[in-house]
Amino acid sequence: MCALPVSATARGDDSAVAFWELHFRDPAAALAQVQRVLGKPQEHDERTVAWAELTEGFHRLFFSGGPLEARPWLERAGRRFVGVGDRRGALLADTGRARMLILDQQPLVARDRLHALLPDAKRALAPTDLFWVLNTLSATYYYTEQLDEAIRLMYETLELLRRVEPSPQLVTILSNLAAALVTVGDYAPARELAQEALGLLQRYRNPQVLLYARSNLAEALAGTGDWDSALATVDAMLGEVGTGRVAPQNHYCSIGAEVYARHGRVDDARRCAEIANEIHRGSAGPYTEVYARWADACLAMAAAPEAALAALVLAAEAAARRKHLPVMCKAWDALSQRYAALGRFEEAWHAQRRLLDAHQQRLLNRASARYYLLRVEHELSSAREERDRESSLRHESEALNRQLAEVNAELSRKMREVEELQSRLALEAVHDPLTGLFNRRYLDSTMPGLGGAAERHGTPLTLALIDLDHFKQVNDRHGHLAGDKVLRRIGKLLAASLRPSDIVARWGGEEFCVIFPATDVAGAATALASLAARLRSLEVEWAGKVVGGFTFSAALAAYGPHGRTLAELVGAADDALYAAKGAGRDRVLVAHGAAA
Ligand code: GH3
Ligand code: MG
Ligand code: MG
Repeated sequence: MCALPVSATARGDDSAVAFWELHFRDPAAALAQVQRVLGKPQEHDERTVAWAELTEGFHRLFFSGGPLEARPWLERAGRRFVGVGDRRGALLADTGRARMLILDQQPLVARDRLHALLPDAKRALAPTDLFWVLNTLSATYYYTEQLDEAIRLMYETLELLRRVEPSPQLVTILSNLAAALVTVGDYAPARELAQEALGLLQRYRNPQVLLYARSNLAEALAGTGDWDSALATVDAMLGEVGTGRVAPQNHYCSIGAEVYARHGRVDDARRCAEIANEIHRGSAGPYTEVYARWADACLAMAAAPEAALAALVLAAEAAARRKHLPVMCKAWDALSQRYAALGRFEEAWHAQRRLLDAHQQRLLNRASARYYLLRVEHELSSAREERDRESSLRHESEALNRQLAEVNAELSRKMREVEELQSRLALEAVHDPLTGLFNRRYLDSTMPGLGGAAERHGTPLTLALIDLDHFKQVNDRHGHLAGDKVLRRIGKLLAASLRPSDIVARWGGEEFCVIFPATDVAGAATALASLAARLRSLEVEWAGKVVGGFTFSAALAAYGPHGRTLAELVGAADDALYAAKGAGRDRVLVAHGAAA
């Protein structure tokens, strides 16, 4: 048996895989079926037994308190799938084993394996199965501090799953993305994603995923300062834990302890901290120690102030060892305040420095993740156009009832689009519609943070203002639409030529503004020189002709010497830009007229 065609797997009309299809929607019911098969394996064919083992393995991995017990099930299922030639099952078993490698603290090995099987998985697996591969791959980045890449993969997975019927996989990726955005401190979109996940969860009977979505929502709410809603969410979440229907995991306990402690509900906080520690003693997940220590610290802050300092130090150190940004930020923040209140200013200052480092990392990841999202959106929108065009050609020759089904699907897609619109609007508010680059408003909002970070860390920050030379001629010779196309292409070139951490914005018309974090004027000048070379060789086709030979004039302003606000830096750059134009164009000048 080779890989099933996508349509068959998506309909789930293959009885051997029925419990696999069910286990995410209703784990308890699926598990009962699985255990019937595994109790009498001799009564079933190899393939059915393999799918039962796979389901058992994934269940332990994701929905039980003992994920390490998944190993023998996944290995057995993997061997059996290879034996019966079931590629789909084999790919999923390999994906589960890659997840085990992450638990074994070998995320890089896991990543290599997943990259090796990804091309095959993209061909052979339906989106709801491919989800497992992408989600695990994303986790390998998440646990090696490449948050931006992890977030990029999650967005990609989200887009993939939004194209098909809503599924528990869609819910999970919404929730995972919420967790990742919490990690980079982007609480408001995290809250929206977690809320959407909770809404969709009403369709399924998966208490574990419900708990997971609630814990992410509680953390996002706490992050936005809405502690009352966070409390209601935590109450609902921990109500489930006592029922025996879900396995406690100490992420939930940690956020529970924090919210209860904040509201002075010491007994509840203590209960959470105890479970968190029990879990930490019993299993090895990457963050179990961090969550247990943070729960202890929250409890101590509320109930035993004399022990709080020591508990906070333990939490901060555990978080720093594991590079767990949210707890690093929270613990260093609380520590620096406590030291300052005790008059221990030297230690307060050290804690403050660690806090700022962690903040800076969060901000960089956040900016970089936004940038990736932008590129993903470009790629997806052109892929979508292509697909829509192809499907409309094909549909012309299809029967009426097929068209009806199509209309229905289109309708639900539209409804999802309306739901998406709200979150997208927030995104569009900071993007320029023509080029997709950031806009002025985004620069206004990020500049204070970037400037503050540069000052605290003593790192340089350089702003470049770029104005295309003689751009009016492009419009005059080839028309305004050609000018628009050229601007789009140049926007892409800018985004692709600079580093992900550089912030590229369209300032207006044919002018662009770039902010180079941690880069001095000489470094920015080098970047612009290579940009100029790439721009010079850019060729854009229009109406059978090639438009090219573009140059720009630019000016650089350094944070500090040339100003501290966006307006001051742009003002300084503007004067130098005027001088660059006057001196013959196609050059980069530094504010105050010195040549770069
Ligand atoms: P220089 O900067 O070298 O002095 O010459 P220029 O021709 O680029 O200068 P100017 O700033 O006077 O003109 C900018 C022109 O860019 C005006 C307009 O024709 C064109 N432009 C600005 N925004 C857009 C746009 O969104 N689309 C198109 N097609 N053209 C634009
Ligand atoms: Mg201009
Ligand atoms: Mg110009």
